[in-house]
Amino acid sequence: MQVFKFGGASVKDAEEIQNLGEILKLQNDKNLLIVVSAMGKTTNALEKLAKGYFDKTDDIDAVFEEIKSYHFNIIHQLFGDKNQAVYDDINNAFVEIEWILEDEPVDGFDFIYDQMVSMGEIISSKIVGHYLNSINLKTQWLDARSYIQTDNIYREAKIDWDKTTQLIQKNIPQILEKGFAITQGFIGNTSENFTTTLGREGSDFSAAIFANCLNAQSVTIWKDVPGVLNADPKLFEDCIKFEELSYTEAIEMTYYGATVIHPKTIKPLQNKQIPLFVKPFLAPKESGTVIKEVQMSGSTPIIIVKKNQLLLTLNTKDLSFITEKHLQNIFKAFADVYIKVNILQISALNFSASYDHQDDKFKLLINLLTEEFDIRYNTGLKLITIRHANEQTIKKHISGEIYLEQRNRNTAQFILKDE
Ligand code: ASP
Ligand code: MG
Repeated sequence: MQVFKFGGASVKDAEEIQNLGEILKLQNDKNLLIVVSAMGKTTNALEKLAKGYFDKTDDIDAVFEEIKSYHFNIIHQLFGDKNQAVYDDINNAFVEIEWILEDEPVDGFDFIYDQMVSMGEIISSKIVGHYLNSINLKTQWLDARSYIQTDNIYREAKIDWDKTTQLIQKNIPQILEKGFAITQGFIGNTSENFTTTLGREGSDFSAAIFANCLNAQSVTIWKDVPGVLNADPKLFEDCIKFEELSYTEAIEMTYYGATVIHPKTIKPLQNKQIPLFVKPFLAPKESGTVIKEVQMSGSTPIIIVKKNQLLLTLNTKDLSFITEKHLQNIFKAFADVYIKVNILQISALNFSASYDHQDDKFKLLINLLTEEFDIRYNTGLKLITIRHANEQTIKKHISGEIYLEQRNRNTAQFILKDE
């Protein structure tokens, strides 16, 4: 069996969904699990809705109406008024959000976020499922929450692999014998039956989880790029596409911020030696890139830009050296507020670290560190990582004031102002 994953851009309007149907028509192997994300920018919109509800701002009706009309527009284009079932299904899904909105927010924000934002995937998979059935591609709809079991760290839920494997292996092979099945990426379920999400852009990871548990032949992620490139084509010219990429190189790239696939995707696939294809959605017969166990020859520089960095600099208050004890406290604070450091540097009196800036987490972090350290910080920065760096590439891409720099034989990293 195989797993196909279609991201938000691949289901963002009626035309793209029809294209998805064309890709599936090319498949002889009907033993296929389809994983979809929320449509287009729906997750951002639902995030805004959740935040507005939590903060009781008065734009929530407008935001909600926009989400609804975006989806109903797509439904209308795909089905006209000929398919009552899809309208009923999607109406019901929106009613679930309305129920939340009708009550005062009493739960924590992360919990509320997961209950609301997960609906983007539910709605998307339902629309696509109905569409596939309407073009005679018989497809079963599966609720990912019946399979992907997690802890209750909302917005960053961790997978309970034992339970998840058991549930997937028990039920899904039989379902796939009957033909295609469609499910959601990004979402899971706690042991108390509440919905969780796996972290932004987590649908790729979901596809890898299903593939691992099902011992899939391969996973294909359909994207709006020709494959995995050595830099983001939106930011750089003359990008080079990789035909093949090793699992390790892919992990390194995504770890440093390449957004083409979610960083957590590779491990479950590597562990079972399942190849991952990254293919262009609009040219399904092209080769794309395959990520697998392969010896990489050549050393094409890979350039990765991570925006929205906050560079935090800590000094001891009494000019004492930064010791292991200090480091222990610093890393405990980072771990307690779930901040992942992207790059760090330590000198006698300074600890500097850069990470993806989020205002709420920043405040919590400062609270934990303020007693022990003097704190300075810069925002609006970007981290540029160059793998297989050579002088020419560095010269071409690095200019302006360098806030922090680090190099080893393989990788050069720079924190710069993000103009
Ligand atoms: N819809 C979610 C997001 O935009 C998950 C995903 O697209 O992978 O973050
Ligand atoms: Mg997405």
